Amino acid sequence: MRIVELRELTVPLEGRVANAVVNFSAHTVSLVAAISDQYRNGRPVVGLAFNSIGRFGQSGILRERLFPRVLSADPEALLNPETGCFDPARVAEVAMRNEKPGGHGDRAIALGALELATWDLLAKLADEPAWRTIARAFGHPVTSDRTPVYAAGGYYYPNDSTARLVDELQRYRDLGYTAFKMKIGGATLREDMLRIEAALTVAGTGANLCVDANGRFDLETALAYAKAFSALELRWYEEAGDPLDYALNQSLIQQYAGPVATGENLFSRQDVANLVRYGGMRQAQDVFQMDAGLCYGLTEYAAMVELLEGNGFNRRQCHPHGGHLLNLHIAIGLGLGGCEAYPGVFQPFGGYPAECGVGDGFVRPTDAPGFGLEQKAELATCIERLVG
Ligand code: MG
Repeated sequence: MRIVELRELTVPLEGRVANAVVNFSAHTVSLVAAISDQYRNGRPVVGLAFNSIGRFGQSGILRERLFPRVLSADPEALLNPETGCFDPARVAEVAMRNEKPGGHGDRAIALGALELATWDLLAKLADEPAWRTIARAFGHPVTSDRTPVYAAGGYYYPNDSTARLVDELQRYRDLGYTAFKMKIGGATLREDMLRIEAALTVAGTGANLCVDANGRFDLETALAYAKAFSALELRWYEEAGDPLDYALNQSLIQQYAGPVATGENLFSRQDVANLVRYGGMRQAQDVFQMDAGLCYGLTEYAAMVELLEGNGFNRRQCHPHGGHLLNLHIAIGLGLGGCEAYPGVFQPFGGYPAECGVGDGFVRPTDAPGFGLEQKAELATCIERLVG
């Protein structure tokens, strides 16, 4: 069994949205195909994945470093000797040969796409949805074939208003979502509080609304926002300060009783260990948002979850960043707390195909083999261009 070819297509993200720090109008994502020598119905079995959302495509690292290492390796080195099938951890190890430890950054994102494409390949070879393959590989008993979900949106737009925000969240509610996330920090505190109050007219209660500052605030501003909305008892307060400023996170937690969320910009288990040591995160309360597609793939991500459990946290405190099919399957396969959805932004990757059932605050994947990316109509042209 061999991977005979690896391909990458850099796909522009649609939309002119912005959070407090980043304008996404020029953002891209790498769609990766791992083409195997195995055939089903006369066609080669192809693993597909992408490097989540928000960190740009990684064409250079994939084509110049990771792909050549995997394709030039002894094919046996990529297989699990017990099953004779591809082993994503071994593919990742081969792809990372001769890379120094630490630093992480863009190579963690590049490998995320390649490693996840191997999981898609594995699940397709087993002719089952990826969450089943993932649950079996990590020995986690699956208790449900659906997972809690919230609709992430509420970005800043060129011609923005609270009425536009309310319309957007109402559209998500009409699609079956009952909880929402919106951006803060891209306007003044006063303007943001008006936006939060407008969003609550759709969310109904603070328990159905998260706010995300995308790492914008210094401690003083983070605390000013916390004080302004503490009585609203929001579901969580996300990435108030720089993702690597663990002391800020700890100080915020000491002065804010509600749940905080962070971790989407931590790319290694060592970074997560440092968050646990120095960030003040509370057991059974705060939320971890690491994202396999940004952190070297599912092998590293599962090690992060294990590390958290070893420190007294519950895996249900994990809600991966991303809002797409890859993390839907990972959330179910690993029994996490839930996943997000981008039903209205970040096409062609965000959100779920119509065949996925959304309702009562949950989302259920289909029985399509692998991650089911082929069912996402917005992605069809990209997959066609990449694989033919
Ligand atoms: Mg976020």
